[in-house]
Amino acid sequence: MSNQDAGNTRTDQLTFQNPVTRYPSISPPEQDQPEPGLDLELEPETDRGEYSYRGTARLQGRKALITGADSGIGAAVAIGFAREGADVALNYLPEEQADAEKICRIIEDAGCKAVPLPGDLTDVAFCAELVSKAAEGLGGLDILVNNAGRQIAVESLEELTEEQWTRTYETNIRAMFLITKAALKHLPPGSTIINTTSVQAYMPSPMLIDYASTKAAINNFTKGLAQQLAPKGIRVNAVAPGPFWTPLQVSDGQPKEKLPKFGKDTPLGRAGQPTELAPAYVFLASPESSYVTGETLNVNGGMPTP
Ligand code: NAD
Ligand code: MG
Repeated sequence: MSNQDAGNTRTDQLTFQNPVTRYPSISPPEQDQPEPGLDLELEPETDRGEYSYRGTARLQGRKALITGADSGIGAAVAIGFAREGADVALNYLPEEQADAEKICRIIEDAGCKAVPLPGDLTDVAFCAELVSKAAEGLGGLDILVNNAGRQIAVESLEELTEEQWTRTYETNIRAMFLITKAALKHLPPGSTIINTTSVQAYMPSPMLIDYASTKAAINNFTKGLAQQLAPKGIRVNAVAPGPFWTPLQVSDGQPKEKLPKFGKDTPLGRAGQPTELAPAYVFLASPESSYVTGETLNVNGGMPTP
């Protein structure tokens, strides 16, 4: 199977099709990339919607900041948002510039503005700076997607260092708090905040103690904040992906020997492709979900959730 066959499709998301066979059940070869991984080097390649996501003007004129927008899920959301008419500010790590440039090009090809804002979210000062630069570059802000995340598998608690524990919490949940707090002064009524959590919030893998517990925290943060911001007309929701084929998995997110079976034990029998998540974020960002807040939308190939 070539890379092209494994990931990309030219069939758009609105075409009637069988979800089992929409994408092949991939068996990724064992591979390793230094953290953070790159989509450019991932095998097989993923479908982030470049050839398949068809917009229907659901986010016309909107202004979105997306973290982790260079690759994987964040990149698919950025492409979906732009095809729906939104301008997008993209945060990512400086090492991911090559992935980010590709996504910026796709956004611009959709006739929208792309504002690249590289920087490290474990830096407290950078989180606030990111929000003000995004609002300045976009001329306002009405969608915030807190999607950046770090996942490093460790066999045992004895081997899990305090340094890793702290870095995972700083990246996955402290940055979410800092960015959201800084964004509030920019967000008019009608704005939407969407946080990326995970099926790991309810079904923690024994090797992902730090990561999975941040994802449970994200669900809880989302539900609490949704109540606080509802009277202001700002909705807060989360999306909980199951197994999606992205660079996170090959930069120590999973033990290498598990990669060939990745996603095969879901009821749909295959890993998700990032673009299959874009419609969930588009729905939660757009006014059509006006009565939905404090919700976690599970997109996980059928794994039962509470
Ligand atoms: P990905 O590697 O493509 O994206 C993660 C992104 O996080 C990176 O691109 C990077 O830009 C960003 N990031 C990490 N550390 C950062 C830091 N210190 N500063 C700034 N940015 C940083 O992988 P993905 O799978 O698309 O991950 C996106 C989100 O989806 C994450 O929150 C992840 O936990 C979540 N998720 C993924 C899966 C999956 O199966 N892939 C499942 C559930 C949840
Ligand atoms: Mg990346």
